[in-house]
Amino acid sequence: ETLSNQIAAGEVIERPASVVKELVENSIDAKATQVDVVVQDAGLKLIQIIDNGIGIEAEDVPTAFLRHATSKILTTRDLFNVHTLGFRGEALASIAAVADVTLATATEAGLGTIAHIQGGKLIDQHSEGLRQGTQISVKNLFYNTPARLKYVQSQSTELNHILDIVNRLALAHPEIAFTLKNGNNLVMKTAGHGDLQQTIAGIYSVGVAKSMLDFSGSDLDFKVTGYTSLPDTTRASRNYISLMVNGRYIKNFQLIKAFIAGYGSKLMVGRYPLAVINIELDPLLVDVNVHPTKQEVRLSKEDQLSNLLTTTIRERLGRENLIPDA
Ligand code: ADP
Ligand code: MG
Repeated sequence: ETLSNQIAAGEVIERPASVVKELVENSIDAKATQVDVVVQDAGLKLIQIIDNGIGIEAEDVPTAFLRHATSKILTTRDLFNVHTLGFRGEALASIAAVADVTLATATEAGLGTIAHIQGGKLIDQHSEGLRQGTQISVKNLFYNTPARLKYVQSQSTELNHILDIVNRLALAHPEIAFTLKNGNNLVMKTAGHGDLQQTIAGIYSVGVAKSMLDFSGSDLDFKVTGYTSLPDTTRASRNYISLMVNGRYIKNFQLIKAFIAGYGSKLMVGRYPLAVINIELDPLLVDVNVHPTKQEVRLSKEDQLSNLLTTTIRERLGRENLIPDA
């Protein structure tokens, strides 16, 4: 049981940033409006997530850490109708299998629950006065899986992975105020006022945000909106393009290629825009249960969506007279 938990954990929890991603997604699912992330030693010593979401009832705490006990998928139809970021019910169990976890949670201000999970086992649970929300502290990640620990890279690399995922989750949720601290250093902060351009300003810079073009386009199945760079303020890496499908940050090379194609010859070879692309669609058109980390999704009508992305950007740049013949 412990071993199978550790093996399964490896699929979801590759590195400190995976823990941050899963815990922040839980905070988002819990309807938090403020999410604070604190790490020490790039997350190897400590990862702490504090939210003001709906909290967990005392009686639900033990099951929250059981694999699949909370799985929201009951039928195959549910698989195509996922409205929360989490649905597999394995993140907390996976994290608890490879680290020491302390949970402090309350569904309303007043009496809350403190729980300690060690070696995947709930060793203590008691009541305590707390404010509403959830705080999860993950200590000594991978202490019992030396093979995994060996693959963890330098602290600066791991911290960059953490910053990258917090940035993307914040860009996907401008209505949530995020902070990320490494020790006492504030690494990022977003306002959480619901404005995407303001969120971009918080993450990159006010100058970058102001220089971007807003775009929007739709057809019968898809709606795409967001912000993207002018052709003359591009980057040398594709990593500054964030793709969100119904509020979920995903990776999809074809869609990014289609988006870039909208720039035509205006984009120099090896240059890429900085962009945030929000795609809204009927959940029935997307299957998010392709991979445990849920970052790869299967889309119906992907070619149609690709076309929409290309034409939306081409027309938007055309309106700026950037592509005279478009
Ligand atoms: P999943 O998100 O796939 O349901 P997780 O293992 O990530 O599975 O979380 C298990 C359950 O614990 C969630 O379904 C949710 O009910 C509860 N939970 C986890 N984190 C939080 C949180 N920050 N606030 C409220 N509930 C939470
Ligand atoms: Mg989850």
